[in-house]
Amino acid sequence: MNRKISRVALIGSGFVGSSYAYALVNQGMVNELVIIDVNKNKAEGDAMDLSHGIPFSSPMKIWAGDYSDCKDADLVVITAGANQLPGETRLDLIEKNVKIFKTIVSSIMNSGFSGIFLVASNPVDVLTYATWKISGLPSERVLGSGTILDTARFCFLLGEAFQVDSRSVHAYIMGEHGDTEVPIWSQASIGGKSILECLDKGIGPSQEELDQIFINVRDAAYQIIDKKGATYYGIGMSLARLTKAILYNQNSILTIATLLHGEFGLKDIYIGVPAVVNRAGVREVIEICLADDEKEKLIHSANILRDALETISFD
Ligand code: NAD
Repeated sequence: MNRKISRVALIGSGFVGSSYAYALVNQGMVNELVIIDVNKNKAEGDAMDLSHGIPFSSPMKIWAGDYSDCKDADLVVITAGANQLPGETRLDLIEKNVKIFKTIVSSIMNSGFSGIFLVASNPVDVLTYATWKISGLPSERVLGSGTILDTARFCFLLGEAFQVDSRSVHAYIMGEHGDTEVPIWSQASIGGKSILECLDKGIGPSQEELDQIFINVRDAAYQIIDKKGATYYGIGMSLARLTKAILYNQNSILTIATLLHGEFGLKDIYIGVPAVVNRAGVREVIEICLADDEKEKLIHSANILRDALETISFD
């Protein structure tokens, strides 16, 4: 464990930000948490409320601050911005959220911040690219939550279908965190057994059931938003997991949005891929073997993101 004082700055304490903060406090993972939100009352209220749980967790300092507090932050987590309304896709949020990000990221950099950025606001792949561009930091220090939550949903539903602990399922969702994301069935396994081989042998769920599992993963946010207006616990825990991998230098392989430099035949794009995450940010992308149809779908997903990026001006 990293013994020096660790500070996380959370930008945006809405549903997602406050769920992340709650997970962070419960897991006693950091020494300091500063919460920054345009809605100062919300940041102050959350800081007070969370602090009252410290006697049940571990000693730490939580306060509502401002951008100058980012100077000493090891990690800045951005969950600020508009969220999807019922029927809206993640890509529909670009204009509103890029505008907000220009102000936020510039203010953070003006503080003298020299840590790692973790972005969760949507569309996360596009906004992580924007954060990299605006900050001018090396790409390994700017990552997005990418498809970490989609991968968790995939493992959870496969675990249910095969009646095993979801942590024993090895399966990835890659690509856009959104409608064009790709299930990597060719590499999906449980306890070392390939899911496609199980399917061939008639063990476990049928093809139709597996197809439905992916549809439920891809459309999970729409289903949850229809029912309760927003999704936040799952992403809050995903961000806490990433925080642990980063601050505790865990070298964990997680599906995150990172800049590609030719891996999977793609470059100059942030997209969800498996990568090793540690105290330096993203150590390396794991270029797993993909089936031909998976490669095509990943390239299609990247093209959709590229079209979205072309609508943004960074001037
Ligand atoms: P929310 O509306 O509850 O919270 C957003 C917060 O951002 C609010 O507290 C608001 O005051 C704050 N904010 C707005 N502009 C700001 C600015 N300029 N500076 C500082 N704070 C500002 O929304 P939410 O449900 O928490 O969602 C937040 C984002 O997370 C959305 O973009 C949503 O789509 C995204 N999200 C991502 C994932 C994922 O898997 N990556 C999952 C769920 C939601």
